[in-house]
Amino acid sequence: MPRDIDTIRLPYNADRRRKITAEVKERIRKEYIPYIVSLRFLASKYSISKRAVQFILNPEAEKKCKEQFKERRKDGRYYNSEANTKAARSIRKYKKEIFPPIKIYQYCLQCGKLYQLRSIKHSFCSRQCRRYFNNQ
Ligand SMILES: [Zn+2]
Repeated sequence: MPRDIDTIRLPYNADRRRKITAEVKERIRKEYIPYIVSLRFLASKYSISKRAVQFILNPEAEKKCKEQFKERRKDGRYYNSEANTKAARSIRKYKKEIFPPIKIYQYCLQCGKLYQLRSIKHSFCSRQCRRYFNNQ
């Protein structure tokens, strides 16, 4: 079961895996002139790799490459459980920074106390209240 924060998608330009924005991609497409403005020039200008420029200019190639990667990774060769855990923690921390928590308060169904809501799944101020309510 994923946490609530794991289901929140990052806005396009807030994704840290992305070095350049959609606007810059568009600019690269316009600036490229075969045999005059080279891939190498554009790559160094925007400090991305030549391969990344190729992918921007040819989205079909990127799609194909991603599909091949998807197949290749199925044997688990890239899977690293420790690195995965570390990355998941890092992304949760980052999401908390860019989406400051909105504090919502509600009344406990059992004791009527006002408490801070931590998850949409909860309706009680404490475990004891939930247990007591469910056993009635
Ligand atoms: Zn309560």
